Amino acid sequence: MNSLDSFARKKLKPLIEQGLKRDILVTERLQTGQVIRDGQQLISFCCNDYLNFTHHPKVCQAAKNAIDQYGVGSGASRLITGNHPLIRALEQRLAKIKDSEDACIFSSGYMTNIGIIPTLIGAQDIIFMDELSHACLRAGSSLTGATVVTYRHNDMDHLCELLNQLRKNHQNALIITDGVFSMDGDLAPLDQLAVLARTNDCWLMSDDAHGLGVIGNGKGSRYMFDPLPDIPLQMGTLSKAIGSFGGYICASKPVIELIKTRARSLIYTTALPPASVAAALAALDIIENDHDYCRRPLENAKTFAQLLGLPEPHSPIVPIIIGDSERTMKFAAILAAQGFLVTGIRPPTVAKGTARLRFTFSARHQQDNIIALTAALKQHGIV
Ligand SMILES: *Cc1c(COP(=O)(O)O)cnc(C)c1O
Repeated sequence: MNSLDSFARKKLKPLIEQGLKRDILVTERLQTGQVIRDGQQLISFCCNDYLNFTHHPKVCQAAKNAIDQYGVGSGASRLITGNHPLIRALEQRLAKIKDSEDACIFSSGYMTNIGIIPTLIGAQDIIFMDELSHACLRAGSSLTGATVVTYRHNDMDHLCELLNQLRKNHQNALIITDGVFSMDGDLAPLDQLAVLARTNDCWLMSDDAHGLGVIGNGKGSRYMFDPLPDIPLQMGTLSKAIGSFGGYICASKPVIELIKTRARSLIYTTALPPASVAAALAALDIIENDHDYCRRPLENAKTFAQLLGLPEPHSPIVPIIIGDSERTMKFAAILAAQGFLVTGIRPPTVAKGTARLRFTFSARHQQDNIIALTAALKQHGIV
């Protein structure tokens, strides 16, 4: 065996033993919100396609029209071929929705975070991050060379302590949090974070990947608070509720100008295809005009939680913590055999000992589907 293959096998061995090897299974997603895997039809409770826009006729038609008019690819980085008019329109639309001066589109949420954080923060600075923040916020932070400290999840006393201890030793400081936590479904206390940021001269950045489209009248997690908290850096993705692909940051004009000039994951990568941008614009049209539709995923999550006696969810994400990875995957397999696609989430995506079934709800789940799912969970002793 060559040394590369034996390296890979050696690295995999303990992961296989701990039930942590991952397999990406061929799965076809259907228009109905169902999926086909191994010839079996399943109802998916694990997509981030909360509003089912990946298959919405208006959204699909917008993408088709863009292909007919502009082709499938974008040719190069926007800094080389120039800005597509649809990209500029999407930036202006997002800025308007998020009440910020301007916005910048990236080719994914991950690329947004690994681009903007090192643009704004350097080695002499400090980042305070919620311990449950998404992996790409950690990846972006690790590119800065700054001191990165994590505070206990949503624990403002702990953050306060760290600010008192460490803020003064650094030039600039950034507080980073998910708006909706992707594996737990709870919200960050953005109101308190905004106050702490202001009083400690820190910049606040929220990652609203799971908020846009589904909470706060479709405008995201910041809009769950009254008065609106001041969040100068509002980041998110176009690949979840929006149903398309891409990422964005909404901020003031000078900040966006700096990002467009310096963010490496914007400058050195190809722009989004026009069809993805057109689809996102069509999805935002619906989000802005049909608030009842946008509320459905959260209502379905609430129905699910109520049927199981779980605390009321604040987002369409509801976890059931199992603990052990192998047991979690066994439960996921049992649910699949019953016709429900629910993904088991294991370390390192979540902390050791907190492996879980993570349920996400969409606008198209019917009450019957949810009742059947909860019945299966009870029948097999999962809850
Ligand atoms: C999914 C996700 C991202 C990454 O977005 P992509 O567009 O899929 O790259 C970033 N942050 C959070 C909190 C997410 O859940």
